[in-house]
Amino acid sequence: MIIAIDGPAGSGKSTIAKLLAKKLGYTYIDTGAMYRALALKIIKLNIDPQNEEEVIKVLENTQINLTDDKVFLDSEDVSQFIRTEEVGNVASVIARYKKVREFMVNKQREIGKASKNAVIEGRDAGTKIFPDADLKIFMTASPEVRSQRRVNQLKEKGFTVDYNHILQKIIERDKMDYERKESPLRPTPDYITIDTTDKTVDEILRYIESLIKR
Ligand code: C5P
Repeated sequence: MIIAIDGPAGSGKSTIAKLLAKKLGYTYIDTGAMYRALALKIIKLNIDPQNEEEVIKVLENTQINLTDDKVFLDSEDVSQFIRTEEVGNVASVIARYKKVREFMVNKQREIGKASKNAVIEGRDAGTKIFPDADLKIFMTASPEVRSQRRVNQLKEKGFTVDYNHILQKIIERDKMDYERKESPLRPTPDYITIDTTDKTVDEILRYIESLIKR
């Protein structure tokens, strides 16, 4: 069974997808981690992410692998370096490029098919990677709530963050994700939308489990 969970940054999809996969004993596939890993390399190499040609050149010499909770960039475990705002923003820029998306989608499909039962989360899990997913969830929340969640997450990790800055970045990322030409973030009618603004993690999990049992 493939469960696809898509939604904008900070909508709670990672938290839910991870817990759901654990509860069901399914493979967890964090597609955003792969875009973030490539973004990290672009930053390290000091390449302008707006320069599509240069980004593709890097991609052609890059290996990205995903295991349940780790992402490997050219065999190095970079999981703990990809969760910054800078990496997220660069990931949104390079995720607009067709060749980048093709590379990621092929790999993500391979991982999903190999595991059979998976919870896969991102922006295009149920539209592009697995259009035949058994269950498609679209998670949303207001930009303000999503920004506050991001601020809390980053503070927990010891970063100093400014709410207004994060809000502005979330709005910028939404714009890039919703308006890009390649696989824009856009749920099809077969998605079930969950507005997570006023819901607890437990409530959301119970609701999704009730959908699985249907
Ligand atoms: O989900 P996460 O915030 O880690 O994703 C980082 C960025 O990667 C997103 O803002 C989005 O632009 C891109 N992404 C994507 N397609 C996916 C997953 C992530 O375009 N399936």
